[in-house]
Amino acid sequence: KDYTNTSFKDFENIAGQDVFTTAVEFQEYLDYLKRNGHLNYRIESLSPVGPEMNLMLPGDSGPNRSVCLVSNDYLGFSQHPKIKEAVIKGTEMFGTGSGASPAIGGHFIYHQQLEKKIAEFYRRKDAILYTTGYTANSATLQCLLHKEDIAILDMAVHASIYEGVSKTNVKTFLHNNLEMLEQVLRMAKDKYRTKMVIIDGVYSQDGDLAPLDRIAELTHRYGAYLVVDDAHGIGVVGENGRGVIEHYNAFDQVDIITGTFSKALGNIGGYVIAKPELINYLKFQSKQHLFSTTATPAVLGIIRAIELIDEEPQWRAKLWQNISYLKNGLTGLGLDVGTTASAVVPVKVGDIPRTLEAGRRLLRAGVYTNPIMYPAVSKKDARIRMNVMATHTTEHLDKVLSAFADIRDLLFIPGAR
Ligand code: PMP
Repeated sequence: KDYTNTSFKDFENIAGQDVFTTAVEFQEYLDYLKRNGHLNYRIESLSPVGPEMNLMLPGDSGPNRSVCLVSNDYLGFSQHPKIKEAVIKGTEMFGTGSGASPAIGGHFIYHQQLEKKIAEFYRRKDAILYTTGYTANSATLQCLLHKEDIAILDMAVHASIYEGVSKTNVKTFLHNNLEMLEQVLRMAKDKYRTKMVIIDGVYSQDGDLAPLDRIAELTHRYGAYLVVDDAHGIGVVGENGRGVIEHYNAFDQVDIITGTFSKALGNIGGYVIAKPELINYLKFQSKQHLFSTTATPAVLGIIRAIELIDEEPQWRAKLWQNISYLKNGLTGLGLDVGTTASAVVPVKVGDIPRTLEAGRRLLRAGVYTNPIMYPAVSKKDARIRMNVMATHTTEHLDKVLSAFADIRDLLFIPGAR
């Protein structure tokens, strides 16, 4: 069977076919990918998150030492001794679990402290915690938007936002296209009750920023609210690591900020920041918050990580040095890194088969990257995506650049140059 243009999405919901039958067909597709070295999901690492990891590659009998560009642990904080110490202290003081959901006794002093800490980090008063960044987006939007309302999304927002708006009216606009956004806002103005424009601060596939200042102005001019997910911006973008909101000095211009502790903060969990009344509304109305067990005492490590963003700015400085070094090296090879302005660095390839093959060859050369394709990006826009870390050394990045130089011919569309 020819699977050249097949994607995971083709198996999502096959009309008239029972899901157990679909699963069998899907397994055949997975086996095909595996045989060709193109199954790059769930590669097993035997070592901690880091700039290098020991990977068990399919078909190998022992681990491979690889330079890793697949982690959102941008500042290396998941391994920071001071943060580990805070996690250990939290565990010693409070144990390994929180025992219940906030509705029935799972709300502890450390949750309260973290809510305050993350809100103050963005110069606000109150925040609400969720199990993950994914849930923060999906749960909040599900709770706030209904049939009489509309969600206006940049096409490239994260999957969790798409999931959150499944019960309300939805219009998308082309990525970062302000004319189209304005058209939608004009249409929606008198037609819907609550209108929300929802964008990412840093886009996870291109690493580019939203033009937040202009979007905020437009959104408010048409009586809509602005929601910004800055999952990849916090700790990375902005002089003091306050993300895209700081980059545009838009602290007062965003109605709802969402984000995650799982990337630059090196832990897990999501948050939502807004006016105290709205946060309180969510605290008592949002089911995924109320009825899901709260974070473990390891949140003491998140509190410490937020402090270290201010106390140890050298990690952010080193990260930006690494980003420039990698980007300059790649463009020096004639490769297209698009419009990135963050720690997410793509190399545009084009079609899916060449992207998968590039990912395989890089992996075999000891360079672990993410081939990204439809449905995460459009069908002709597949790419190799990398996440740079502060803990990458020049030697690591030179190894990456040399692996790209070796597969350079594969990366250009045949006949295009
Ligand atoms: N928003 C964006 C833009 C993301 O890239 C991610 C990452 N996976 C999330 C939200 C979800 O965060 P988490 O991994 O904490 O669920």
